[in-house]
Amino acid sequence: MNEHYTTQMDAARQGIITPQMETVARKEHRPPEEIRSLVAEGKVAICANKRHVCLDPNGVGSMLRTKINVNLGVSRDCKDYDVEMKKVMAAVGMGAEAIMDLSSHGDTTAFRRKLTAECPAMIGTVPVYDSVIHYQRDLATLSAKDFIDVIRLHAEDGVDFVTLHCGITRKTIEQIRKHKRKMNIVSRGGSLVFAWMCMTGGENPFYEYYDEILEICREYDVTISLGDACRPGCLADAGDVCQIEELVRLGELTKRAWEKDVQVMVEGPGHMALDQIDANMKIQQSICMGAPFYVLGPLVTDIAPGYDHITSAIGGAMAAAAGAAFLCYVTPAEHLALPNVEDVKQGIIASKIAAHAADIAKHIPHARDIDDRMADARQRLDWEGQWECAIDPETAKAIRDDRSPEHEDTCSMCGKFCAVRSMNKALSGEYIDIL
Ligand code: SF4
Repeated sequence: MNEHYTTQMDAARQGIITPQMETVARKEHRPPEEIRSLVAEGKVAICANKRHVCLDPNGVGSMLRTKINVNLGVSRDCKDYDVEMKKVMAAVGMGAEAIMDLSSHGDTTAFRRKLTAECPAMIGTVPVYDSVIHYQRDLATLSAKDFIDVIRLHAEDGVDFVTLHCGITRKTIEQIRKHKRKMNIVSRGGSLVFAWMCMTGGENPFYEYYDEILEICREYDVTISLGDACRPGCLADAGDVCQIEELVRLGELTKRAWEKDVQVMVEGPGHMALDQIDANMKIQQSICMGAPFYVLGPLVTDIAPGYDHITSAIGGAMAAAAGAAFLCYVTPAEHLALPNVEDVKQGIIASKIAAHAADIAKHIPHARDIDDRMADARQRLDWEGQWECAIDPETAKAIRDDRSPEHEDTCSMCGKFCAVRSMNKALSGEYIDIL
């Protein structure tokens, strides 16, 4: 442990450029001093628990490459640690910068420790889920101290960021009743906190003991991902009083964390119509003072179960182009079932496309280089060159191979009518044989 600073934010504020900041600067093609300054302001979070020593650090911020998160973890239906670990490493291989461990079965501590010992991606958790599993007791029997102890356990295990639903309070109970949302609360963690408050009559422990939580996060450098319990679960609930009221509280909590040098990300919607996304990102940026925004979707329509990786990629691209920094993947199984391996792959690819499309629109340094290389390979009808640039070369190659072209240099889409081939020949003065 470095003795001169506690968190990346503390170091940045002391003018120290940490090895993690150097790595982020190199990956983002930015000067290290710029990264340091952004971390000091809270506009970039480098989620890097001091105990996660195999971490390959990344920065999360709207001016950096958009990062993606993949949710995995052991469950009753998938409880083999090695199989789940293989999925984790495959997700990292496909470009996931973060893995959220949502384990809900068995010895979650062992799997979490395996993750922080072996996985180079940022590791996130939702301690309120784990509390029930960890203590093997019903929610209502858990005390505020029990929840805080689980946060400490995750921090000690090397978790880089924790989603904490600190933004709802007892006032939210009345608001949810009064405003009659169509989908009430759809955040799993948020619903647990809400249920705990209803059953015990107590205040939200993550709100009430926030200062104690900040001390833990400061000690290990755990970034708080301020959960959006009231994220809209359908288009009709988007941008309503419950969502915005919680966002205002998340802004206050962001400020309190920064006062203790604790890094923060703020979570966002949810389901939201296309025309509301841009305004929502701007409101978040002003209320939360530019803290990195982490969105789940947004899903731009409610009617496409089976295709929600697409509805969320559309919204995710728009959100990231408008300022979101971090996209949580959504798979085709969203709203339907636990994702299988193929669903996970489809979700990652869709999120990567959304993130990359936004990065190009935001003019992130060198984001478009690979598209330009793809265009050059296409113009040369260089298929191997195209696979090298493709986001999913396996699928691209399989489609081409399945419908082999009549002429090796073209593809079976247009055959001898290939515009690229005709133009290449015409411009070099060659005869164009169509028939
Ligand atoms: S055949 Fe048509 S689709 Fe295929 S490479 Fe040529 S122009 Fe493109």
